[in-house]
Amino acid sequence: MRPSPRIALSRFALSAALALLGLSVAPVFSQESPAQRLLDQVATAMGGRDRLQRVDTLVYTGFGQDAYMDGGGNITADLNAPTKWRAIADAQRSIDLRSRRALVQQRRAPMFPFAAPFGLNWNRASSQQGAADLLDHPLPAVLAALDPAAKLGAISVEEGLPVLQFTTAEDVSVLMGVDAVTHLPAWTRRVVPHANLGDVAVTALFTGYIPQDGVQLPYGLVNRIDWRGQVTLMLQVDSYRLNVARDQMPAIPSVPAPAPAAAASTPAAAPAVTVTPLAKGAWDLRVGNNNGGPVIEFADHLVLFEANGSAAATLARIDAANKLVPGKQVTQLIVTHHHFDHTAGLRAAVSRGLAVVSHRGNEAIFREMIARPAVQFPDDLARSPHPLVFTPVDEKLVLEDKTQRLEIYHVLGHSHMANALFAYLPAARIMMEGDLGDAEWTWHWWASALNANIKAYGIDPRLNVAVHGPNGGLSIEATRANNQRQMRAAQEFCAKQMTAGVPVFGGPVQYDTDGPVGLQPR
Ligand SMILES: [Zn+2]
Ligand SMILES: [Zn+2]
Repeated sequence: MRPSPRIALSRFALSAALALLGLSVAPVFSQESPAQRLLDQVATAMGGRDRLQRVDTLVYTGFGQDAYMDGGGNITADLNAPTKWRAIADAQRSIDLRSRRALVQQRRAPMFPFAAPFGLNWNRASSQQGAADLLDHPLPAVLAALDPAAKLGAISVEEGLPVLQFTTAEDVSVLMGVDAVTHLPAWTRRVVPHANLGDVAVTALFTGYIPQDGVQLPYGLVNRIDWRGQVTLMLQVDSYRLNVARDQMPAIPSVPAPAPAAAASTPAAAPAVTVTPLAKGAWDLRVGNNNGGPVIEFADHLVLFEANGSAAATLARIDAANKLVPGKQVTQLIVTHHHFDHTAGLRAAVSRGLAVVSHRGNEAIFREMIARPAVQFPDDLARSPHPLVFTPVDEKLVLEDKTQRLEIYHVLGHSHMANALFAYLPAARIMMEGDLGDAEWTWHWWASALNANIKAYGIDPRLNVAVHGPNGGLSIEATRANNQRQMRAAQEFCAKQMTAGVPVFGGPVQYDTDGPVGLQPR
């Protein structure tokens, strides 16, 4: 039951009155705030404050799934599009509760085709976590609340559960929902910055408590974000160990402290932009080899192709573009598709007032992305709010004036993205695209799309500029040769995996570079 603030106050009034009379009541009534009382109930339910504070290390293992790009990598941005899950196996999270850091070691592979072995090889990988990351488990979260340096706040109610607010010693604000019957933590919530979505509240949900060595621990762990209620992590714990011997613990390197919100609003040094002329009125502007794409000149403005990689990369490209032609500024942005790597700079681009051109199917998600606040972690759009001005494309849109013509087409025959666009500059015969190809991919699962779109729209490119690189683009012959090589490698990889009894999601490859492969009866 939620403790009633009114009753607690009346007890306080009673104890004050008794104090005036020189009498006293039990300290539990005279000194505890409602928040302290609720936290005491939680600590008692989990095993008792003393027991919890005698736990130095916590290690748990398990398996599960997480959502690729937090749900921003699906076939389309529709609410009902299937989520792209990644499988997690052999996971171990080792938490040092004294230094408040952890190491996550796990094997992970997408349950969908991926272009490079680093995503599909199931190698065991490690990532470090700091104090704020540990708040998604009830034991470190309750210990953080019990820390004398923590500040307890108000109690509220959400869906019938009392909710305790507290601020950790590291100045992270946390909400903790408490089960009304058991007094065990039902969930915790904190806000993290997100390049595409602004402030994101992550709610960690705890189920299946079982006592172990005197401490109640949950066997079901789910993370859900406040964007579309997207579940981002589902972990099923299959073992817990408390106070693990130090020689059985992995080394846990410290992580740099996260920049406080105030520091995050100070722009870091702008990344360097490489400018490569492509043709008259067309340049390739890139941060590194991978993040970039063309800028196209019109009579009185410039058009930027893609806002990918990051806010910093996008702003650096806009600034560099604005110096290309005296008197001409970037006013328009073409976004190939909604995937979060390709829209990591969308909020930054809109903060500069750029109007956005994309497939009609991306309008709803772009409006969501631009409408979201960034209060705890202010970003460029929070500092310079602008509305989204959106031009939808169905099959084809031509941007044209007396100096330039840029054709924009809906990408056909591509199972990685359904609401995607590419662009074509007919005068210079330059094609520009995102995710139709990349010289550095190991495997290509959609290798027919390049030729299919060239044929369907009757275009004749000599150069292809892929946002994933390389800088300056590649001849169409070289692009086709890469696709052919990567498609063959994907076919061989699928055959090898099938022989080993481990079929690949997305295998066997269904397309060669000219279309669907012939079917064998089976
Ligand atoms: Zn993509
Ligand atoms: Zn991509």
